[in-house]
Amino acid sequence: MSTRRGTGVANDAASSNPFGTAMTTRTHPEAATASALMAAPRIRKEAASLAVRPHWCADETAGGAFSWAAMRARLAGLPGGGLNIAFEALDRPVREGRGAHLALHWLGEDGDERRFTYDGLRRQANRFADAVTRLGLVRGERLFVLAPRLPELYVAILGALKAGVVVSPLFSAFGPEPIATRMSLGQARALVTTSGLFARKVAPVLAQIPTLAHVLLIDDGSGPLPAGTHDLGALLRDASDDFECAPTRPDEMALLHFTSGTTGRPKGAVHVHEAVVTHYATGLYALDLHAEDIFWCTADPGWVTGMSYGVIAPLLHGVTMIVDEAEFDPERWYRILAERNVSVWYTAPTAIRMLMKAGSELARRFPHPKLRFVASVGEPLNPEAVTWGVEALGLPIHDNWWQTETGGIMVANAPAFDIQPGSMGRPLPGIEAAVVERLAGGGIRLIDEPGEQGELALKRGWPSMFRGYLNEDERYRKCFAGDWYLTGDVVRRDAEGAFWFVGRADDVIKSAGHLIGPFEVESALMEHPAVVEAGVIGKPDPLLGEVVKAFVALRPGFEPGDALQRELMAHARKRLGAAVAPKEIAFVPALPHTRSGKIMRRLLKARELGLPEGDTSTIETGS
Ligand code: AMP
Repeated sequence: MSTRRGTGVANDAASSNPFGTAMTTRTHPEAATASALMAAPRIRKEAASLAVRPHWCADETAGGAFSWAAMRARLAGLPGGGLNIAFEALDRPVREGRGAHLALHWLGEDGDERRFTYDGLRRQANRFADAVTRLGLVRGERLFVLAPRLPELYVAILGALKAGVVVSPLFSAFGPEPIATRMSLGQARALVTTSGLFARKVAPVLAQIPTLAHVLLIDDGSGPLPAGTHDLGALLRDASDDFECAPTRPDEMALLHFTSGTTGRPKGAVHVHEAVVTHYATGLYALDLHAEDIFWCTADPGWVTGMSYGVIAPLLHGVTMIVDEAEFDPERWYRILAERNVSVWYTAPTAIRMLMKAGSELARRFPHPKLRFVASVGEPLNPEAVTWGVEALGLPIHDNWWQTETGGIMVANAPAFDIQPGSMGRPLPGIEAAVVERLAGGGIRLIDEPGEQGELALKRGWPSMFRGYLNEDERYRKCFAGDWYLTGDVVRRDAEGAFWFVGRADDVIKSAGHLIGPFEVESALMEHPAVVEAGVIGKPDPLLGEVVKAFVALRPGFEPGDALQRELMAHARKRLGAAVAPKEIAFVPALPHTRSGKIMRRLLKARELGLPEGDTSTIETGS
C-alpha cells in the first residue's frame, strides 16, 4: 500500500485520534467483534499532513456543542422568519461578498464551457422565478425538471425554489412510463425539458398528465418548438433579473423526490425548505467544504444526491461547483479532476468500480495535486475500492450513507476520522442512529450488542427528514415506530460505533446507484401481450452492484425464444428507459407465489443465486 505526502493518509491496523478534539472514536473491549467485521486494515489519518484542517476538528460545534438551532443561526433566513433554499444558496453568498466568485463551471459534452458567478447565477435564477411567476405559477405548485446536466437545469431548479414553486426532478434516462407516472402522481403544473426529450418522452404520454399547463423548452435544435410550449431562452431574456424571494416558511414543501418501493407506485418524498439546514451542516462535516474548494458531485440532479449535493450544499458553502454534461468516461473524468483542480469529489461506487476496471495506470497519468477529499454514496462501497483510492488517487474513498427520505447525509466516514474499509462510517453531528428489530405488535427493540444485525433507524428531528409521501399518509406513518424512522436497510454497528451495511430489508433494486422498484418493471413487462406474469429481482453484478433481471411467464400460444426475448427487452427499454429496463430476461413456466398471491421475489433470487430457499411454507404449491 503506497502513501503519498500531503494526503494525510496511512494504512495501519492501529486506531488513532489525530486531532484529539471533538472526535468520538472509542476503543472498546468488544473491539474483537468489530474486527471480525473488518475486511481490510484500517486507514489511519495523519493530522499533520492533511491538506486542510477538517471542519469537524476546527469547529467545536461538531462536538458536544452541536445543535440544529446553531446551524440554522448560521443561515440568513428571510425577513419575517421564513427560509428559502435558493435564497440561502445564492443571495446569502452574494450578500456576504462572494458575488464575483465562480459558482458554476459547466463543461459541455463537446468542449463548450460556461461559467456563472454567484451573482450571475442569482440573476439567472431571478429571471426564471420572474418568468414562471408571470406565467401564473404560484407557491406550492409543482414544476418538474427533465433535462441533461445543462446550465438551464440549475437555473430552473434554483429559480423555481425562489418563486416558492416545488421542484420535482426526473432522471433524463427515464422512459415515458416512469415520467408519466411521476408527473401525474405529483400533479405537475409545469415542466422544464429539452425540445428533443419532450418530443420523444413526454409528448406520447401528455394525456396522462392533465394538470400540466406550462411546458418550458430548452431548444436543443431538434426541430421547431411545438405549438403551446414556451421557449425557455426567450422567457429568460424577457424576464427581470430582480426578483423578491417568495416568503416561504421552513416547513413549506420545496422538493418532491420520487423514490421506488417494493410494491405499488413510486412514492413522492416531500422535502421542505428547512432541509437546507442539513444540507449546510453535512456540507461542513461530511464533505468538509471550504470556501476555496472546487467541488465536483458526479450525481445527476434527477436523483436526490445530485440535488442535495450537486446543486444546494456546494452553493451554501460558496464553493465553485463543476458540472459535467457528459456521461461517464474514465479518461474524461481523470482529466476533469486534474485540469479543473477539483479539491473535493463526491461520486458513487459504480463509477469507482468502473475506474478500477480502467486500471490505476490511467489514474496516474493525470496527477491531481489539488484533490484532497473523496467521498462516495449510493451503494455499498467495497473495501477494495476504498484502498484502491489510496493506490490510484493517493486518497481513500470515504463512504457515506443516506437515502431519498433522509434528504441529506446521515452516516459518514468524515475526513478527520480513520476509515475501516467497508464501513459506512458514523452518524454525523445531530444524527442519532440505532440498530433495531421490528416487533410483531408494531414496536421496536433497540439492539445494543455490537455486531448484531438489525434495521437502521434514525431518531426524528433532523431538518431534512422527509415530511410525508405525497398523498400517502398511511405509507408514511408505517415508516415510523415512535420517534424512530425505520430506513428499510439492514446494518450492523461495531463496538466503535461505526455502521456496516448488510442489505435491504425489502426487494428494491440498486443498479448503478439508482433505486429501482421491481413492481414498476413487472408492470411494464406485463403490458406486453405475450406476458402473463413477471417477477423482477436485483442480480448481484461486480460493476453495477445489481442488475435488473426479470423472470416472465408467457401466455398460452407464445413460445419462449431469442426473438421474443429481444422483443421484450426492446419493449421494456422503450417504456421504462435504459436506466430502469431489465438487462436480463428469463422465461419460466410459472412464478412462485405466496398463498396470498404475491410473487415471491425472494425465492426467485435465492434460486438464481443457488442459495437456500429459506422458509417456503407460505408458497403456493405448483410454483
Ligand atoms: P436512494 O433513496 O435512491 O438514495 O437510495 C437509498 C438506498 O441506497 C439506501 O436505503 C441504501 O439501501 C442504499 N445506499 C445508500 N448509500 C449506501 C451506502 N453507503 N452503502 C450501502 N448502501 C447504500
